[in-house]
Amino acid sequence: MSPPPPDRAPAHGGTRPALLTGWGRTAPTAARVARPRTAEQVAEALSRAGARGALARGLGRSYGDAAQAAGGLVLDCTALTGPIRLDTARGEATAPAGTTLGGLVAHLLRHGYFVPVAPGTGQVTLGGAVAADVHGKNHHADSSIGAHVRALTLVTPDGSARALGPEGDGSELFWATVGGMGLTGVVTEVTLAVFPVETAYMRVDTDRTAGLDATLELMSRPASDRRYSVCWVDLLAAGGAMGRGVFTRADHARIGDLPSTLRREPLRHRPGTVLAAPPWAPPGLLNRWTVGAFNAAYLRAAPRRRRGEAQPLAGFFHPLDAVRGWNRMYGPRGLVQYQFVVPFGAEGTLAAVMERLSRAGAPSFLAVLKRMGEPTPGPLSFPRPGWTLAVDLPADLPGLGRLLDALDERLLEAGGRLYLAKDSRARAETVHAMYPELPAWRRVRDRADPGGVLVSDLARRLRLV
Ligand SMILES: Cc1cc2nc3c(=O)[nH]c(=O)nc-3n(C[C@H](O)[C@H](O)[C@H](O)COP(=O)(O)OP(=O)(O)OC[C@H]3O[C@@H](n4cnc5c(N)ncnc54)[C@H](O)[C@@H]3O)c2cc1C
Repeated sequence: MSPPPPDRAPAHGGTRPALLTGWGRTAPTAARVARPRTAEQVAEALSRAGARGALARGLGRSYGDAAQAAGGLVLDCTALTGPIRLDTARGEATAPAGTTLGGLVAHLLRHGYFVPVAPGTGQVTLGGAVAADVHGKNHHADSSIGAHVRALTLVTPDGSARALGPEGDGSELFWATVGGMGLTGVVTEVTLAVFPVETAYMRVDTDRTAGLDATLELMSRPASDRRYSVCWVDLLAAGGAMGRGVFTRADHARIGDLPSTLRREPLRHRPGTVLAAPPWAPPGLLNRWTVGAFNAAYLRAAPRRRRGEAQPLAGFFHPLDAVRGWNRMYGPRGLVQYQFVVPFGAEGTLAAVMERLSRAGAPSFLAVLKRMGEPTPGPLSFPRPGWTLAVDLPADLPGLGRLLDALDERLLEAGGRLYLAKDSRARAETVHAMYPELPAWRRVRDRADPGGVLVSDLARRLRLV
């Protein structure tokens, strides 16, 4: 139930029925799927939306129900592709919204350029990245992708293709679209600021940490302010070791940073070997013991302290892309990703939430902890200055719903919030309290879609529209 393979999608004009889920493979719902190739075909498809509405979908890498619309028309935007235009004088690239981030990176590196924000997988479309206002390991330094979008084209249900930018006329709708989870229209083209790089490698420093205090202390040091930083944290370690992890910091490597063997082709991109995960997994494969053993082995294999290692970009930014379909390892019930941000100063809440997850024996592969910096003006954009933690959990873990509801309350008290692109289970009231700008966003959205055509399962569940 991952996204439909392109070769099975209907030619433009037709629709096919499909059962859709997000990356977590929970809560499938049925929809008709169309596959437009141009902005005109998007407008035409939107005009054919029935009473159950319509919604854009990218590569289905949001974890929950953001890219599905039960009973409605889903526009698979992965065929919105075409040439990428790189303007080196302006430092920007313009691409159709169905372009994958991985494809854009491969193209840009050939010319010695890179994207301003790279989320944990290259398997997302540009449209999906803007709709979720995605962040990467450099949020503390560079904010989220919306801060680097210079222009976008948005097709709204009235059929118009609007050229929008971050300032001036149309900026309100622009910012409602950045992080707006597809509910303001269909993005068909994006112009993104890009920057030059000398090599396709990162210069990486690695430190192993002994527990949560040590992890946070290291991540808070000013000297940690490399452009990129992330910590893989072991939530299954007990007692004082809880929160131990592998902290990596990196900058783009310059030619002089590379060993001589790599200097001959410094921009050679190595997307990495792609292995396929087994098509099915026995229920219970991932439990406290198997995952705990994996985490311990991962930590042991990491260097205690290493400086200046040259790592290929793909391995640094998208390690999970090396295993195709890894989400199937969670078995037929799927997985839930719990990602939140709490403000700086709320480290006590961060520690308490981690301890609750640890005590519940939640078999989580290493959780990902990052620092966040300046937000964008997008009213529904997730990032806020503070600490963000992302944890994958088996959806059938006993008591998971109650546990996460209780954690939501803690987050709310501390001024934290959940990430809509990852959510599949939160309550509407909780999310409304976490996103106080929701009513302002709704006013802008309602002007763009007065007929209420655009809708998703996420929007219905959380009463966003
Ligand atoms: C392994 C993995 C790692 C990840 N790491 C990160 C990370 O580090 N940081 C981060 O921020 N996110 C991360 N994500 C989440 C992912 O970046 C977002 O969910 C992203 O939105 C997925 O893009 P997609 O093309 O698959 O969109 P989908 O999941 O198909 O759709 C997501 C949303 O975008 C909307 N949308 C899609 N296309 C368009 C369009 N053309 N116009 C308007 N709206 C559209 C949909 O309606 C939906 O609301 C990760 C996901 C995975 C699976």
